[in-house]
Amino acid sequence: MTQSSTWLAAELPPCDYQPPVYDGPSRQQVLIDRQSFCNPAIFTLYSEPLMIVEGHLQYLFDETGRRYLDMLAGISTVSCGHCHPHITERVREQLQRLQHASTIYLHPNLSELAAKLAARLPGGLEVTYFTNSGSEANDLAVHLARLYTGCLDIIALRSGYHGGSFGAMGLTGVHTWKYPTAQGTYIHHAVSPDPYRSPFNGSAEEIARKSVQDMEQVILSSTCGRIAGFLAEPIQGVGGVTHGAANYLREAYDLVHRHGGLCIADEVQTGFGRTGKYWGFEHFDVEPDIVTMAKAFGNGMPLAAVTTRREIAEKLAQRLHFNTFGGNPISMAAGSAVLDVIDEENLVENARQQGERLKRGLQALQGKHPLIGDVRGKGLMLGLELVRDRVSREPATRETLELLDLTCRRQVLFGKGGLYGNVVRLKPPLCLTAADVDYALEVLDYCLGEV
Ligand code: PMP
Repeated sequence: MTQSSTWLAAELPPCDYQPPVYDGPSRQQVLIDRQSFCNPAIFTLYSEPLMIVEGHLQYLFDETGRRYLDMLAGISTVSCGHCHPHITERVREQLQRLQHASTIYLHPNLSELAAKLAARLPGGLEVTYFTNSGSEANDLAVHLARLYTGCLDIIALRSGYHGGSFGAMGLTGVHTWKYPTAQGTYIHHAVSPDPYRSPFNGSAEEIARKSVQDMEQVILSSTCGRIAGFLAEPIQGVGGVTHGAANYLREAYDLVHRHGGLCIADEVQTGFGRTGKYWGFEHFDVEPDIVTMAKAFGNGMPLAAVTTRREIAEKLAQRLHFNTFGGNPISMAAGSAVLDVIDEENLVENARQQGERLKRGLQALQGKHPLIGDVRGKGLMLGLELVRDRVSREPATRETLELLDLTCRRQVLFGKGGLYGNVVRLKPPLCLTAADVDYALEVLDYCLGEV
């Protein structure tokens, strides 16, 4: 089959939702106002910036009504799908009753959501503090680990991403997200266990072991030998969908506990079914001491949290700690509806099944297109690392951008990540269907042939 006949055979799966005609400001006007008045650090992905004005489950619509298959889900966030009717309804109902009064008063939504979370985490992880963003959650987790252990030093991983606030920027291990300003201190970045770009040789398991041994050297040489904790994503998202072998987190957590530290799982991207299990850490047979979460938790509403054991949480009660919007009834209603939808629609299992189908398809494309150096990830959190040469593994950064432009023209939106910006990130809403998977693969196949 020629490439063009492959392309002609593929069509975006049908969708019965028709967005109303868009009658807002023109795309050109929006672009001009954004360039004139908005923070110049916010960026768009494509050479021709795309304007999105409507969403329906796994699809997005631009101002002309053109439909796109969303393979990024607002950066791993809209896991239940855009404008999910059940979540929208719960939020609307709450908006009409009470928007904000603050946690100085009782409200049933806050305690209900905290209890629901406790029921979905391993025993003991049952006390939750709500925040509005993943960065805030990670800042608070570090704060808790320091208060509990009486130590300052935190180990994070190279190429991890944990946010852009003062503290979280210090945890982040990707230079493009770190400004030359003061940021969270007493943070040491250990080597990432990603076998594809590890400085160590051997099997993935050996690389994982050597990475943990190296972390021990970091602890012994950069700290007093006792640490406050270790904060890591079970699967790195922004860093390019990387993770260590099955033994990595278990051995790393053992090491950290031996040095007095708490283990913090940043589940901001991996949580709530994204990886085909409810939590990312479940793939690695570990139980964290503290879990941070955001993104999919609110399905687009600003909602994040830190959950931990009571004895750790109680350290915060020695002073006053308050977050104006944290725990507000609207975000709580959204979070509660999200947890219901994940269960009712079996989204964790769908992520596992469609993720397997997608990964198999990506591996087949790897056999066909030399540009694909590595295919990795779990569930619907997958990455394609693009390289110019499979031996030298020279990052194909420019080609990655070109590929994303081409796929966008064919109505599929992917993301980008990795230390060198050469990883295509696939993190669609978890309601993705087999027909969507097949379409995304056809478009990738065609566009890879064009790059
Ligand atoms: N942790 C991880 C793993 C993330 O991917 C992100 C955001 N990309 C954050 C933390 C920070 O979350 P937020 O942008 O909500 O502050």
